[in-house]
Amino acid sequence: MTKNKIRIGVLGFGGLGQAAARILQPKSEMCLVAVADQKGYAYNINGLDCDTLISIYHEKGSSGYLPEYGVLSNNSIADLIAHADVDGYFLALPNLPNTFMADVTRQFISSRWQGVLVDALKRTSAVEQLLKLQTDLNKAGITYLTGCGATPGLLTAAAAIAAQSFAEIHQVKITFGVGIANWEAYRATIREDIAHLPEFNVDKAKAMTDAQVEAFLDKTNGILTLENMEHADDIMLELAGICDRHQVTVGGVVDTRNPKKPISTNVKVTGRTFEGKISTHTFTLGDETSMAANVCGTAFGYLKAGIKLHERNLNGLFTAAEIMPLFVK
Ligand code: NAD
Repeated sequence: MTKNKIRIGVLGFGGLGQAAARILQPKSEMCLVAVADQKGYAYNINGLDCDTLISIYHEKGSSGYLPEYGVLSNNSIADLIAHADVDGYFLALPNLPNTFMADVTRQFISSRWQGVLVDALKRTSAVEQLLKLQTDLNKAGITYLTGCGATPGLLTAAAAIAAQSFAEIHQVKITFGVGIANWEAYRATIREDIAHLPEFNVDKAKAMTDAQVEAFLDKTNGILTLENMEHADDIMLELAGICDRHQVTVGGVVDTRNPKKPISTNVKVTGRTFEGKISTHTFTLGDETSMAANVCGTAFGYLKAGIKLHERNLNGLFTAAEIMPLFVK
């Protein structure tokens, strides 16, 4: 069943992890063979059935309860890496604390596993930690693409393309709208968003109980309004040579009680052309596209691109602003 398909592992089986599994189900080029969550993992070289996996996760709280292929473990990521034959992993994990993804990356490096890693990291400081692992990733034979969600990710890549019309970039402004029916479907995403609010930080948001998050959302009517966020779109566009990180701003509105987007998601790139004209390109996502569609679709497009790089022995760290995503059939 998995012959000639790219064997995919998804680490983290919450909101994004489950959406990732659903997206892979009809694909002919990729096949989900492994998932891990906080309490266990499931692995089947011939492919995992996403509906069974999702219902087990909701009923029992871990993919480790999957009959035949599930294993309960408090060290699920390390155990899975050691057992599974996987070509590429999508890291749909919470980055709480802010050093978690870098820690997981070090685990991959020391495991001697070789392949492709893709994340949907958000914070600039988290991407900076990965940049320090560049040489180790290269030596380990791992091709790691970072910032491959929606923002950073799809919108950052769109900004890199839009920039090409200009001789000089003045501003990149990303504004996102997210609508989800209930915050519990995306606990890490919402906690990490709360961490961006003025009176919070990552440690404070991580320490909040579910009841405290709920009480906080009650006060805001379920709405989070975010401005001047620390988002890695800035460092990614700087590394791609497009503009200085200070010229990039990211903000948005998240409605945690309604799947309809409160505002349209867009990126505006303003610059001066070689003729001296000042203009703005705007790339707007369709309002019907969900956060999950925009994040996971992009992540797998980059994972496919990562596989091509890996086959050519191009290892180390890349960002979504310097590589074109491919399309997964
Ligand atoms: P979630 O809270 O719904 O799920 C997290 C999953 O990770 C759970 O299955 C949990 O069991 C698992 N997990 C936690 N700790 C683990 C551990 N130590 N080992 C193994 N598994 C572990 O998360 P979510 O809302 O789907 O968000 C995932 C990440 O995606 C967040 O960091 C979020 O910021 C990011 N995100 C990025 C973008 C983007 O556009 N770049 C958009 C949305 C979300």
